Amino acid sequence: MTGMLIAGERTEGAAGEGIDVVDPATEEKIDAVPRGTAADVDAAVEAADKAFADWQKTDAEDRANLLRKAIALIERDRKDLTMSLVHEQGKPVTEAGGEIHHLIHGLNYYADLATKVRGSYQPLPSALSKAYGMVIRRPMGVVAAIVPNNFPLTLLGTKVAPALMAGNTIVVKPAATTPLTTLKIADLLLEAEFPPGVVNVITGKGSEVGDALVTHDKVRRVAFTGSTAVGRHIMGLAAPKLKRMTMELGGSDPVIVAPDANLKAAARGIAIGRFWNCGQMCLGGKRVYVFDEVYDELLEQLTRTVGKYEPGLGWEKAEKPAIRVGPLHTADGRNEILEQLQDAVDGGGEVVLGGDTREGKGYFVNPTIVTNPALDSRVAREETFGPVLPIWRVSDLDEAIRLANDSEYGLGASVWTNDIRTIHRVANEVEAGMKWVNQFHYGYDELPFGGVKQSGYGKEHGQEGLDYYLEDISVVVGGLE
Ligand code: NAP
Ligand code: MG
Repeated sequence: MTGMLIAGERTEGAAGEGIDVVDPATEEKIDAVPRGTAADVDAAVEAADKAFADWQKTDAEDRANLLRKAIALIERDRKDLTMSLVHEQGKPVTEAGGEIHHLIHGLNYYADLATKVRGSYQPLPSALSKAYGMVIRRPMGVVAAIVPNNFPLTLLGTKVAPALMAGNTIVVKPAATTPLTTLKIADLLLEAEFPPGVVNVITGKGSEVGDALVTHDKVRRVAFTGSTAVGRHIMGLAAPKLKRMTMELGGSDPVIVAPDANLKAAARGIAIGRFWNCGQMCLGGKRVYVFDEVYDELLEQLTRTVGKYEPGLGWEKAEKPAIRVGPLHTADGRNEILEQLQDAVDGGGEVVLGGDTREGKGYFVNPTIVTNPALDSRVAREETFGPVLPIWRVSDLDEAIRLANDSEYGLGASVWTNDIRTIHRVANEVEAGMKWVNQFHYGYDELPFGGVKQSGYGKEHGQEGLDYYLEDISVVVGGLE
């Protein structure tokens, strides 16, 4: 069993029980981690609170240097971290390597920003006394970071880096199924000499440790990434204590393909945007609306491109031109996808590619394209978290925008076109927190990312991401006569 991390020490937790971590490609146990309890959460939060006393007083430059040291260690261990991620998450080596690369890029971004946090000076009217005002920017204290299973490392980085660079301490709760690489990263932070207690990792099930973490009096800020259902639950729990929260939740991003689109580029972009990570992406293009004029040609190109995907073990490369795609992360995730697909077919959708599972072990579903399912089918209404792509034919931009907005979600959206009027309308009228023109959906470290509607609120990435870990405090300095 690999222990969790509290106050710089590995521990098996108060219960002394473990939960298995399984390789989704083989269904075999690869390790176990402690089944955390409320007592462990309390110990971790207390450790983080204690560490905060000194950590908040450190120089931003020193904090940035510690993070740079950790980045160098992550680079040193890149291979090991990549393989660890492949085995616990299921994604292919290329994708896992890409995730580590993105993690490092994001950590660097916040290491660079650490020393750029600025307050302000404000002259004040002298009616009460001769005085001036300052707005100083202070860390909040203990942050609880709850991370999902699809991008365990980048979504760890988007919380840990801004939290620590702003001078907070943190307790991380990785998904129960992807704790191992997170623990390795936590070790590297310790090796880089972040003080004990500044970073803590609680393992176990969200349903068992989540409540204790989110409601703990000493947790000031909750950074949650996960499904909308769990997000709602957590928000309810934290509301009585008025925690500062960011809610990065589910999505069902629409993609619009206009008649003037570069169809080859669109087909490639849509394929990457839907089938990367076996379709388990918050910001994947999950509903495609194609103008009548180019529908047949796009579908043909897309079917050809997606036909190259070959499900298989993440650590074995596919022979070119085949492209490796891994398994779904869990058996539940696979069942959910198959149920959604059946519902799409029941609602008149036609499966033009895939639609079945792969023989043998592993939670595989073959990459699937389904055309024109009913507009009230589950793939249209819900988040489809796997390798199933529904495509609809539309007659004009009004219809495309209306259908794009006909969703409770509002995470991302994209359009393939070179027409400035179409770009302008999509930018302004489609309800989503981030939009791409002629590009697949990708979260840049430099740009604020977060949803509208039931996709949540608050931003990660960018300078805005750091703002969410700081409180603006006004200070009036008077008595200057
Ligand atoms: P999930 O089931 O909502 O779980 C997310 C995290 O919440 C996990 O660590 C989970 O722990 C924990 N959790 C579960 N119940 C909890 C509770 N009662 N209290 C506190 N924590 C609890 O999501 P997932 O299946 O891991 O990830 C997929 C979802 O995340 C999708 O909906 C996807 O769109 C969304 N997502 C959103 C973004 C974004 O930036 N908007 C990015 C990536 C993913 P356990 O694993 O132990 O259950
Ligand atoms: Mg889940």
